Amino acid sequence: MLKDVPSSVLIVGSGVFGLSTAYNLAQRPEFKDTKVTVLDRLDFPAHDAASIDSSRIVRPDYPDAAYSKLAAQAQKLWRGDFGAEGRYSESGLAILLDDEDSKLGRAYMEGSLRNVSLKLGLKQGPRSEGGQVTVLDDEEAIKGVVKNMSGHIGKLGYVNWTSGWAHAENAMLHLRRLVEATNRVSFQRGEVAHLLFSPSPSSPTVSGVVLNDASELRANLTILATGAWTPRLLDLRGIASASGQILAYIDLTPSEQEKLGGNPCMLNESSGMFIIPPANNVLKVARHGYGYANPTTIPHPERPGTGETITVSLPRTKTDDPHLNIPAEGDRACRDFLKRCIPELGDRPWTHTRICWYTDTPSSDWLIDYHPTYSGLFVATGGSGHGYKFLPVIGERIAEVLMEETRDELSEELRRKWSWPKEKFRTEHVWTDDWRGGAKGMILDEELKKS
Ligand SMILES: Cc1cc2nc3c(=O)[nH]c(=O)nc-3n(C[C@H](O)[C@H](O)[C@H](O)COP(=O)(O)OP(=O)(O)OC[C@H]3O[C@@H](n4cnc5c(N)ncnc54)[C@H](O)[C@@H]3O)c2cc1C
Repeated sequence: MLKDVPSSVLIVGSGVFGLSTAYNLAQRPEFKDTKVTVLDRLDFPAHDAASIDSSRIVRPDYPDAAYSKLAAQAQKLWRGDFGAEGRYSESGLAILLDDEDSKLGRAYMEGSLRNVSLKLGLKQGPRSEGGQVTVLDDEEAIKGVVKNMSGHIGKLGYVNWTSGWAHAENAMLHLRRLVEATNRVSFQRGEVAHLLFSPSPSSPTVSGVVLNDASELRANLTILATGAWTPRLLDLRGIASASGQILAYIDLTPSEQEKLGGNPCMLNESSGMFIIPPANNVLKVARHGYGYANPTTIPHPERPGTGETITVSLPRTKTDDPHLNIPAEGDRACRDFLKRCIPELGDRPWTHTRICWYTDTPSSDWLIDYHPTYSGLFVATGGSGHGYKFLPVIGERIAEVLMEETRDELSEELRRKWSWPKEKFRTEHVWTDDWRGGAKGMILDEELKKS
């Protein structure tokens, strides 16, 4: 069924989910008379958004065949114009395990290897013989593909030479230019205080947003693409939560850059720690973890003005506190990983660190759907730490759900995965059940106090 085309669409959030949706709508002939506005609380590129950073891994290595196929579709575009001028580098990605200690990590690795080999048909074997995927049975084999790292990197795993990484901020800037070139989208800066709810309880409707300065922006359709901040605007308890993730950066000399720059990305699925090959003399160490919750008591987002409050995890970033750095626990995790992989750089001080926020769902499936209660409201969020790589294709998939279209065999499967959950998670805060590193249950304030 093709949905009616709204006469005005307000997209809140200009990260991967929001900006890519704007681009797709702007290209659709049926939306030619629709007023499309993108609103963000910060000037573009919003420096604390999940979509803005020096790098993001781009891989089809998923145990889930649907994401694997979708990532392969995105990669076709990354390899073309979209990823040109250094926006995408096909460095390869080594997925490694230390030993038997992480069952989830092992299952993730084995499932990914199966999918890229069997479903995507990538050829296994040494790279020198045209292999696209090389299985690494021991440390020596790992050292053969991850060069000039004298430490202990991992015990086994595989490298997918068709994976790589994107310069996250530059690709977002590129997409923004593409959107601007359509001349179809207007951009506005402003922070949404709350949604504009209809006064009638019998037909609950959202007809736009109210900004912090109390002004209103009205639209027939409001799309919330506000990433980890979404629980401030909608009651998502038991559906999606913000989790803080650690990033740390060091500067390299040109010769260190030369030595390490040709390596694949390296993701350790026992600990969740990863290193992106350095670019512009900067090396990044990070963790794909359960992350920190930041419980915050806020006015109930769906009952503004009533005095009712709820407590949800929300991002805290350098916009809120310019001196905010990663807690000692996270610092130690990054430091230990750097030391064990590249001992000679182990004591190099961080140039900066950052807590970046995932929007976690129980299964790590995104949340892309109409709101089950409020007409006029659509939600596109729940990136769960793996949404970036889909930048070139996610907008058309979001628009597909929006218009209830079925384009290919993936459409229905994705719609099922991304639909509003019928059941809530077992606790109000979502600690994802998906594979991650680090401890589960850490609270940001408690960890910062230990620092
Ligand atoms: C540390 C880290 C590493 C990651 N690594 C990878 C990776 O290697 N590969 C990969 O594929 N993915 C990765 N991801 C995931 C990926 O970056 C995210 O899934 C994706 O960027 C999420 O995009 P988004 O649009 O939902 O959120 P965001 O990019 O955060 O955008 C949300 C926007 O909404 C705006 N906003 C919020 N609240 C309001 C409001 N009230 N009013 C107005 N505007 C508002 C914000 O300013 C922001 O610009 C990583 C994420 C993190 C944090």
